[in-house]
Amino acid sequence: MKLMKINKITGEIFCLSNLHIGGSKDSIGIGFMDNPVIKHPITSEPYIPGSSIKGRMRCNMERRLGRYKTVVKKDEHGIETKEIRHEPCRCGSCLVCKTFGSMSKNADSPTRLIVRDAYLTEDSKAKNRDIMDEKGINIYGVKYETAIDRKTGAALGGSLRPIEYVPSETAFNLEMKLQIFDIDNEDEIISFVKRALKSLEETYIGGMGSRGYGQVKLRNLRLNGEPFDLESVNF
Ligand SMILES: [Zn+2]
Repeated sequence: MKLMKINKITGEIFCLSNLHIGGSKDSIGIGFMDNPVIKHPITSEPYIPGSSIKGRMRCNMERRLGRYKTVVKKDEHGIETKEIRHEPCRCGSCLVCKTFGSMSKNADSPTRLIVRDAYLTEDSKAKNRDIMDEKGINIYGVKYETAIDRKTGAALGGSLRPIEYVPSETAFNLEMKLQIFDIDNEDEIISFVKRALKSLEETYIGGMGSRGYGQVKLRNLRLNGEPFDLESVNF
């Protein structure tokens, strides 16, 4: 197998709603914060890890192609409930495995898609600096939300927990590399990646999507410098 070409896909991830990407409390040193946003350790600016973007794209496409497992679970009373779990496909040969990488140890198929961490655009950086200078407010807001019991979905009485988020209208730079090998159908893989990009707009990025976080629009998309949009991407 021979590497024939490396395509470059660039664009902007524009937040239509607030975005929450969970970071670790330890790595950013905010002791009281329950749900910090991931920030770069040196610049303290928020970013979206490439793995978050890629993971969401993969999960969306596994659903579309039915490449996930349905696991039957039994509760303590022996009652069976069907739960759809999104375990990554391990076949090593389908479009999902080719594009996003196979979890199988035996697979000799290299990951075609590489997604870089997405950092703030220069515009978004400048905007944040201006607001900080003008009002002294940290734009990466903290919002208090009622804690939800993960199993039952019921609100846990009383306690509001802080959630740190990136406000809507923030933009991040998207950059991906798509490797094409001599055995690949390039058009097929590019169409698949475009479909996966569109799926990001149809779902969300980051955490708490069911609560309205992470709705995005992809802007200024380019494939090797040539503009393209997702309007023509079919279901
Ligand atoms: Zn597969």
